[in-house]
Amino acid sequence: MAKTLTWQPDDLPQGFAWDAEAAQVLRLVDEAFAPIERPVHFTNVDHCSECREHDEELKARPRMALRRADLGHEGWDPLYYTSAQGVAHLMPALARFTMAPDLWPDLDWYAGQMAFHLTHDGPDNRLLHSFDAAQKAAIAAMIAWLLVNRAEAIAHYGSQDDWRQAASIWQN
Ligand SMILES: [Zn+2]
Repeated sequence: MAKTLTWQPDDLPQGFAWDAEAAQVLRLVDEAFAPIERPVHFTNVDHCSECREHDEELKARPRMALRRADLGHEGWDPLYYTSAQGVAHLMPALARFTMAPDLWPDLDWYAGQMAFHLTHDGPDNRLLHSFDAAQKAAIAAMIAWLLVNRAEAIAHYGSQDDWRQAASIWQN
């Protein structure tokens, strides 16, 4: 069994902790994604200056030290340009930002960005097609946990339909 990774962004409020059920989901995520190697580049750096900039943002820190701000916002989201391997490598941190409450006052709840990445192109979603069975099961467990434990935040951001769609895509 893979060890559970320690999440240590330096902008996480002091004293934040997961409950047992969340910790169980994160164990599945860590077992499935922790072994994925860090790519040399997260994006296609030859594509354009924006891809180069996003690559630098994601390379600035080890994955478990990434900050909420490193993940941008809907209009500037480095994951749009990140390879599936890059997303898989970062998933232990991304899952924590997705499952954390809306903690960062200057940025929206991260889960909205993750909902897009998990549902873009519906059943043809690129992550769905590149993740293996254990990785897909971990994502499905994260989605199921969110629908129950973050129902209020999901309603606040009006993203019920996105997360229901994510559930139907990933739970099959
Ligand atoms: Zn580009």
